[in-house]
Amino acid sequence: MDAKVKPTTQVATVKLLIGGEFVESKTTEWRDVVNPATQEVLARVPFATPAEVDAAVASAKDAFKTWKKTPIGARARIFLKYQQLIRENMGELAAILTAEQGKTLPDAEGDVFRGLEVVEHAASIGNLQLGELANNVANGVDTYTLLQPLGVCAGITPFNFPAMIPLWMFPMAIVTGNTFVLKPSEQDPMVTMRLCELALQAGIPAGVLNVIHGGEAVVNAICDHKDIKAISFVGSTKVGTHVYNRAIPTGKRVQCMMGAKNHAIVMPDANKEQTLNALAGAGFGAAGQRCMAVSVAVLVGDAQKWVPELVEKAKTLKIGAGTDKGVDVGPVISCAARDRVNGLIERGIADGATLALDGRKPSVPGYETGNFVGPTVFADVKPGMVIYEQEIFGPVLCLANAATIDEAIELINANPNGNGTAIFTQSGAAARKFQEEIDVGQVGINVPIPVPVPMFSFTGSRASKLGDLGPYGKQVIMFYTQTKTVTARWFDDSTVSQGVNTTISL
Ligand code: NAD
Repeated sequence: MDAKVKPTTQVATVKLLIGGEFVESKTTEWRDVVNPATQEVLARVPFATPAEVDAAVASAKDAFKTWKKTPIGARARIFLKYQQLIRENMGELAAILTAEQGKTLPDAEGDVFRGLEVVEHAASIGNLQLGELANNVANGVDTYTLLQPLGVCAGITPFNFPAMIPLWMFPMAIVTGNTFVLKPSEQDPMVTMRLCELALQAGIPAGVLNVIHGGEAVVNAICDHKDIKAISFVGSTKVGTHVYNRAIPTGKRVQCMMGAKNHAIVMPDANKEQTLNALAGAGFGAAGQRCMAVSVAVLVGDAQKWVPELVEKAKTLKIGAGTDKGVDVGPVISCAARDRVNGLIERGIADGATLALDGRKPSVPGYETGNFVGPTVFADVKPGMVIYEQEIFGPVLCLANAATIDEAIELINANPNGNGTAIFTQSGAAARKFQEEIDVGQVGINVPIPVPVPMFSFTGSRASKLGDLGPYGKQVIMFYTQTKTVTARWFDDSTVSQGVNTTISL
């Protein structure tokens, strides 16, 4: 945890949101929020005290008493208003996001937009939170289900999508009748806070949405808290596994969406130009800091001859500050992240991979202090090399070779991660074989980053996910609600009493 300091200068402080008020933390532990292109300190974020965590949960618990009874149409209308406010403030939201996270302004708008789509979906809750009814399951008896909210739910989010991922969580939790405590990434909490301001402006009542900041201690307090009923986590496999193992024994529902090593298979019959564009965009966009970034391309047969053209394509990408026009690749989030990525590139060379394009220490005039790593391509990458085994989370694309589609599928299924994958081909038979046999949550067919739209749910296989239900879409309605099954019989004057019945029947 670098940059923890006391607030001594006039830099703005990020507030907590408790009981409908944005309040200054009383903590003594703070961390700088830093512009990764310039190292400018934008704000200081507090690491909330145990008392502040308790206050946020208590406020959510209290608000639940009335919020759970709010009519479904009233809840939906708040999110109709909220989506309008997000649209109206899109430019400002993207600017805050780029300043603290580094991605380009158009990509920052995309980050907000993919979250906005979930808000739009939340506004259609009237069609989503429906129970089932079976009429006349026995003589004069009906059975039906109620999907009731759980109570206080919590969300823990990563740095790489500071708008989209909080919006995956609190709108769906709140619109289903729960109250929420959010713990954003301490690396870039400012756009998340602006989104929370807009949520209150849209009409979310005091206490229904609360925000606390911090790191390990606050996350552990969320895992342990007796009044929190469910946790949604998105972040690394290491932290997500810890959250799952700590919170599950306390009886909470937990969904953890975690790390990745996304492979794309390139078949020799694929459309070459489209495929190379897709690989460069998905490998180096957002400086490779997307959980769905393509980090390994598996070149099958003659596609292995495309490496020089892929390298040429990568060289055309412009590296720079996300605020500058025409930039394709912004900085990585922190100096520590830059040093880690550069260290992994050195390790790839030492392990014997072929460095086809070296992105270390790029020249970015005007931004000499920024955390830049340029597009980097390794060819001849094999399992066992550190650059293959670890999630690099930087603009580094590894190229592996396979003789056949079967070999490529076997390679992907043997990798511990199962977040996203794609195939590039013009063969329907190859695409169908891939879709059937691959053990990965998100599958793209000539689509490099197949993040599901909100009518579906984000998912994941193997080490990329813990918990059975994913964020947003139909699955999250089940995650954020408790099914109650009612069996009802109503008597009228014509009903003849059968007397005492001691057998198990209706
Ligand atoms: P991270 O795991 O470091 O942090 C995630 C959250 O956990 C943050 O809020 C952070 O404050 C908290 N945290 C960090 N260290 C902790 C600790 N020791 N104990 C308890 N809590 C801790 O992840 P990140 O670096 O912010 O984000 C990048 C990771 O997230 C990548 O692995 C990426 O693949 C993953 N990710 C996954 C998805 C998905 O949907 N599968 C989406 C986005 C990002």
